[in-house]
Amino acid sequence: MKIIIIPGDGIGPETMAVTTQVLESASAKFNLGLVLEQEIAGHSSLEKYGSTVTSILLEKVKAANGLMLGPMATYDFKDESKGEINPSKFFRKELDLFANIRPSRTYPKVPTCVKPFDLAVVRENTEGFYADRNIESGGSEMLITPDVVISLRRITRQCCERIAKAAFELAMTRKKHITIVHKANVLKIGDGMFIEICKAIGQNYPQVQIDDFIVDAMMAHVVRAPERFDTIVTTNMFGDILSDLTAELSGSLGLGGSLNAGEQYAMGQAAHGSAPDIAGKDIANPFSLVLSAAMLLNWHGQKTTQVQFTDASKAIEKCVGLLIDSGEVTRDIGGNLGTKAVGDSFVRHFSKG
Ligand code: ATP
Repeated sequence: MKIIIIPGDGIGPETMAVTTQVLESASAKFNLGLVLEQEIAGHSSLEKYGSTVTSILLEKVKAANGLMLGPMATYDFKDESKGEINPSKFFRKELDLFANIRPSRTYPKVPTCVKPFDLAVVRENTEGFYADRNIESGGSEMLITPDVVISLRRITRQCCERIAKAAFELAMTRKKHITIVHKANVLKIGDGMFIEICKAIGQNYPQVQIDDFIVDAMMAHVVRAPERFDTIVTTNMFGDILSDLTAELSGSLGLGGSLNAGEQYAMGQAAHGSAPDIAGKDIANPFSLVLSAAMLLNWHGQKTTQVQFTDASKAIEKCVGLLIDSGEVTRDIGGNLGTKAVGDSFVRHFSKG
């Protein structure tokens, strides 16, 4: 399995260094034969090639079996004509990575303000309120007058169907409970269609219990009782926001793993951003990216029916749990280790276990 590794901006290089260590250990232990190829995107690529991403990089990613994308300083990238393309959007769109799966769970030793829970947000990734992926050419945000902006939201039947199907398939491997999150009371046509399609797809999965919540009420419900939820399916922006909330509820945004998957390609990417406030300080929690890498191995194992990849994925998750139980973690989840030291601890435990 060849994986393209892009460290990214902010806390990306330090958390990706740990993730690379973890992947190398998993490769050795489970005989995965991983080939990890380092590439650049974001600020470093903008400096070197005049663009945050290049078509050569895209071809390399397409020729590989997976991509690990570090967090990107997306807020800095404003003008595509100057090469400032949002790499995250670029790969999601170019590789048609329509399903963004973001699991969140609590760990007994990580303090939280909620009861134990284990859920997954399934977020549509290629349309919705994201102006940068809605139109073939040009943006879907318009400055009508200096004081008036219109931002378009695109919802299509095809994208609703495929995200609903991905969510029900995931629910079948979990507790068989789907919650549809929407704003159909206001976005009557778009979210009306989203609910209708999710429920129609649900008819093919009679074992799965279905309910739905309006997104604003959902925020209260998920804070009050996250343990009520199992698999949550929603449109792009709601899923983006909701999954940061569920990751933080589990103890830290630094715990949120995330996989962007399509029919052909997949990309592991931390749920959090580049966190410039803590970049370069050796305090970022690497687990979000490490768990995303585990999800990528699992995806490849399922796709190619190679059990050693799914076994390696489970072993990485287990070792993260073990480090959390033993307190060998960064300070955001109650430990006192630096990012690099967490990587070293991981390797020590993983090779022993
Ligand atoms: P961006 O503009 O790239 O989205 P951001 O700082 O606005 O970056 P996040 O990176 O998602 O957004 O981070 C929000 C806050 O959560 C950060 O300020 C940081 O304190 C905390 N945080 C995020 N990721 C981690 C992590 N891996 N470890 C510890 N804390 C984190």
